[in-house]
Amino acid sequence: KRIITTELIEQDNEIEKTLRPQYLKDYIGQELVKEKMSIFIEAAKQRKETLDHVLLYGPPGLGKTTLAGIIANEMNVAIKITSGPAIEKPGDLAAMLTNLNEGDVLFIDEIHRLNRAVEEILYPAMEDYALDIIVGKGPGARSIRLDLPKFTLIGATTRAGLLTSPLRDRFGVICRLQIYDYEQLKEIILRSSDIFNSPIDERAALELAKRSRGTPRIANRLLRRIRDFAQIKNDGIIDIETTNDALDLLEVDSIGLDEVDRKLLMSIIEKFSGGPVGLDTLSASIDEEKTTIEDVYEPYLLQLGFIQRTPRGRIVTKRAYEHLNMPMEEQ
Ligand code: ADP
Repeated sequence: KRIITTELIEQDNEIEKTLRPQYLKDYIGQELVKEKMSIFIEAAKQRKETLDHVLLYGPPGLGKTTLAGIIANEMNVAIKITSGPAIEKPGDLAAMLTNLNEGDVLFIDEIHRLNRAVEEILYPAMEDYALDIIVGKGPGARSIRLDLPKFTLIGATTRAGLLTSPLRDRFGVICRLQIYDYEQLKEIILRSSDIFNSPIDERAALELAKRSRGTPRIANRLLRRIRDFAQIKNDGIIDIETTNDALDLLEVDSIGLDEVDRKLLMSIIEKFSGGPVGLDTLSASIDEEKTTIEDVYEPYLLQLGFIQRTPRGRIVTKRAYEHLNMPMEEQ
């Protein structure tokens, strides 16, 4: 299993909860999003109104669930957490909605994966805080409208473009989370090491930050592995040497690329002379889902400037050739 995957792996669950900041002031980075959200939260609180529906999007592991929890805390309301694939029937969603209290947050992760029938329940719920229910069957069937408590829907997705436009249009606030820079990740790592009670020195924290693909979830996960390594090999002291040794052992390279990233880049270089190559072809060639390539691998490679997206497909850049120590053919 990929150690630097951004997906949640089972053991993450409990540990991530303990690492989640509870208030905006403890949420590191994402300055624009924080500023925007704090204004909307303050305004809604002053007017004693429910916060408008919020859509958060960006690659996995950047802090969408965390931010949803923070928003609920800052608004002093409860949060119910679910996900697109978990809501199978319209009735499931209806039950959840009727169980909310006034002002509560309903967080739907992977909201782009709601099925059609469920999504349609959401439209009147978001717009008018109402449920339209069909009673009876055949010619006698009629629709009745039930009032719902005013609530805030927070949806999370990897790309805003995955949502249908009627759903996207019903969010009053849309925020994109960015990949974190090294300094911000370093801060997150220092904070987590505090919580774990296993101090890491500044240099080691920065080194780990550079190898974490701009993603807090990966930084926290690698920190746990390094901590194990330090405990066995270095009396629990996390310094730069231990950090480097542990990360080398985990096959995470100096800028956070692993096996799969290298496979992706090498495949474009070797099989397609550096590109351009279309997403379908690439996906078949390295045997990875298209959405996984787009949501998990590419954001960081794009950020590094290792690949470019052109209308004709993906191209590997000179920078990537250099990093991989590959000669670049004359075009
Ligand atoms: P997502 O929902 O986008 O997949 P999460 O909200 O589950 O990501 O975040 C993953 C982990 O990263 C959490 O355990 C959280 O502790 C940490 N994290 C994310 N963003 C931040 C941040 N801005 N500051 C501190 N820790 C963060």
